[in-house]
Amino acid sequence: MQTHESLIEDSQKHLWLPFTQMKDYDENPLIIERGEGVKVIDTEGHTYYDAFSSVWLNVHGHRNERLNKAIHEQLDQIAHSTLLGMSNVPATQLAKKLVEITPAGLDRVFYSDSGATAVEIALKMAFQYWKNIGVSGKERFITMRNGYHGDTVGAISVGAVDLFHKMYGPLMFDSLKVPYPYVYRHESGETEACMADCLHQLKTTLENHHQEVAALIVEPLVQGAGGMITMPDGFLKQVRELCKAYDVLVIFDEVATGFGKTGEMFASMHEDTVPDIMTSGKGLTGGYLPVAITMTSEQIYEAFYDDYSEMKTFFHGHSYTGNQLGCAVALENLAMFEEMDVVGQVAKKSSYVQKELQRLEHLTHVGEVRQRGFMVGIELVQDKGTREAFSSDERMGYEVTLEMRRRGLLSRPMGDVLVFMPPLCSTETELKDMIQIMEAAIHHTTEAKQFAIHQR
Ligand SMILES: *Cc1c(COP(=O)(O)O)cnc(C)c1O
Repeated sequence: MQTHESLIEDSQKHLWLPFTQMKDYDENPLIIERGEGVKVIDTEGHTYYDAFSSVWLNVHGHRNERLNKAIHEQLDQIAHSTLLGMSNVPATQLAKKLVEITPAGLDRVFYSDSGATAVEIALKMAFQYWKNIGVSGKERFITMRNGYHGDTVGAISVGAVDLFHKMYGPLMFDSLKVPYPYVYRHESGETEACMADCLHQLKTTLENHHQEVAALIVEPLVQGAGGMITMPDGFLKQVRELCKAYDVLVIFDEVATGFGKTGEMFASMHEDTVPDIMTSGKGLTGGYLPVAITMTSEQIYEAFYDDYSEMKTFFHGHSYTGNQLGCAVALENLAMFEEMDVVGQVAKKSSYVQKELQRLEHLTHVGEVRQRGFMVGIELVQDKGTREAFSSDERMGYEVTLEMRRRGLLSRPMGDVLVFMPPLCSTETELKDMIQIMEAAIHHTTEAKQFAIHQR
């Protein structure tokens, strides 16, 4: 067995971690060795709550017996064969299941291996759809400010988080940006006014550009990486209707919000609204293996269906598309969703979480706590009254999560927005414990920091 120290050394010498300033990693390295339910254990034997579900993936906890078994059983059949021009057993069964559980009208499943690739596929499908039905000029996309859809060049072209995306400007294709209803940061600070403003700007953009626009892409109900920003009720439905009126396709990116996290199987179900194309991933395999999906209406599918010589084929695919191990564990994950009524449980436990989160709202530097089911954002501010942010040099969100780590809980902030997105299987006792750790860490870090500033 390799020692903890030499593993750390090797990691610092050879690894380059995603979305990570490696100088930060060198100062605070961490290597996870095992998982157990909602906890993970590092190479020194320290135990941590996985309070962000290993970046929004995990559903039934780590080392779940049923999920492990599903993979073992599939492994005895075959690990992988291609989906190019042929299918496999679990990919076929999973497609049928997905059509059953997704909003009515999404009848076709195209597999890939990450959220970003699922988005790329959605964009290319929307683009080609109009060409295939003989409509020219519809080649652009509308996206929402602060939107995040993954990191490949196509996905960042419809992304709008300045911190991540600005650097790559010259590489990206240009998309039309409309505001997202971020009520807390809207000049009115009020839901109705903010919503009306955003819808008005969307309508203007559609009016001026609909003939050049293939599709609009939006994260339904919660903008995840943009800062866990929750959408006011009714907004999504109106976005959908406006796009329909202007003959613009709608893509719902449910990569983060899909599979129960908001208290419905898919976030769009809260608003009883169905997109033309939907992407999802993350929780699909229970957080086990990389499988993502792009689902479409039969109408979109049919636009690609013709004699080969008509050149309407969708020329896109990845080596591991439809991987059997991934599809097998996804099937077992979905069976568990059904048998254990996971979605109903999340809806119920969410009110408990909401009640417990109230203790955070009282803290001096917690500006807003935003929640949709098990997706929670805690926005830290310098001044609660004026909503003034902390200076970015202080790295308050990052400092707080380091303190959480010292206290036995892992998460990852987006700037000064802390994320709480526990595995859906978390019990009330575990949820309470996690929220108490967060409270103590926020209190300790923000108040201690304040003290330090006054000392200077
Ligand atoms: C995480 C995420 C993606 C990207 O998924 P990856 O699997 O990380 O590529 C895309 N869209 C949304 C809304 C996400 O939250």
